Amino acid sequence: MPLYEYFCEDCQKDFTLLQSANVDKEKTVCLECHSNNVRHVFSTFTSKTHGVSPLAKQRPATEDDYPNKDIFKLPIPGLR
Ligand SMILES: [Zn+2]
Repeated sequence: MPLYEYFCEDCQKDFTLLQSANVDKEKTVCLECHSNNVRHVFSTFTSKTHGVSPLAKQRPATEDDYPNKDIFKLPIPGLR
């Protein structure tokens, strides 16, 4: 389940809820004051990465992202 971040207009607090995607966001109430005067904050993830394309971040790293492919052949330290 994805995490949804909300901001309560009444007590000015952020809170995060684990909700399934089909939950009615309009019915979400503040955890602190139970006000329904909350707004869905679009993921801190995108708001904290100003200037960086979200698409670039969403692509998982592949071997092509590492110029030195020999790194994959090295033993991982600390696993012995
Ligand atoms: Zn509140």
